[in-house]
This record gives sequence, structure tokens and C-alpha cells, in this order.
Amino acid sequence: MGLIYKSKNVTTAERDLVKRLTKQCLKEIVKSKWEITGPRSEKLTVAKVWDKLYLKVKCRGQASYGGKNYMCIDVSQYRKGRTFQHEYARIKNDPIIGEGTFATPEDALMLIVAHEVAHLIHDNYFIYTRWLREGDNTPHGKNWQKIYRILRREIVNKNMVKDVDPEKKVA
Ligand SMILES: [Zn+2]
Repeated sequence: MGLIYKSKNVTTAERDLVKRLTKQCLKEIVKSKWEITGPRSEKLTVAKVWDKLYLKVKCRGQASYGGKNYMCIDVSQYRKGRTFQHEYARIKNDPIIGEGTFATPEDALMLIVAHEVAHLIHDNYFIYTRWLREGDNTPHGKNWQKIYRILRREIVNKNMVKDVDPEKKVA
């Protein structure tokens, strides 16, 4: 069973929101068409990933984190009603995985969740996945970016209202 823990100052509504957004990302990324697999090419399911996950929700104005079987999401920006979400310098100007403004604070929070789910999936499965095994497997490297790109394109960016650089906008 997946474990979800919230800090005292996080509401149950915020916790449940993060849980729902996390599951939405997992539902997308386990689809067969993305060919991300477990050991011996085993097909992933939401339950398989979720059951091993320890998900923590905090509100401290700190960074969020994602890694092997672990995610920690900070909801401070969401609570403040922020709709702009930053990304790391290395990717912030990328037309797909860069930073941007979203329709609602929940949509901006989805960017954070997708970013950390990409770390979770990358750390858990890159060594088992044919198309991820080789190449740059550093924390924000090319292979992590490929996973994040899927989540951004299929889910997060659908609610993006403005890219950082409109010239780079891809239809
Ligand atoms: Zn990261």
C-alpha cells in the first residue's frame, strides 16, 4: 500500500489534491505506448508504482523532491494562489518542459508533481527500460527530460496559458 504523509500545516484537501495529481501522472506514464518497464520487461501499472511510493506533502516554502520510491511536494506556491511556475535554469526556456503560467494554481502545482513523478519513474525504472538504459541518466539529464516531456505534453501543458518565450511556442 502506498504511504502518504502530510505535515501538520497541510490540509487534508491539499494532501488529497497532491495524491490525485500524482495518480493522474502515473496513469499516463505507465501506458504501454511509452514502453517504460520494470525488471524483465514487466509492464508497469499505477498500483505497482503507487504501492511502493512514500509520498510526503509539506508547506514550508521549500523545494519539492522526487527519487526512488519517494516524493515530497511543497504546496506553498499553490496555497498562495500562484499560477506561474519556475523551472531549473537548464530547462526553463525549453518550449515543452520550460517554466510558464497556468490557468489555475492547481495547474501550476501539476507542473511540480509531474517534475517529481518524472524523477520517481526515472530513478525506479531507467535501468530496466530499453530506451532509457543508455545515455545521460543524471538527475536533470536527457533521459529524465524525456520522461518529463511526456508528462508535460500529455497533461501539464494543456493548461498552460503563456509560455516564457512565445516565439518558441510549439503547436
Ligand atoms: Zn528535479
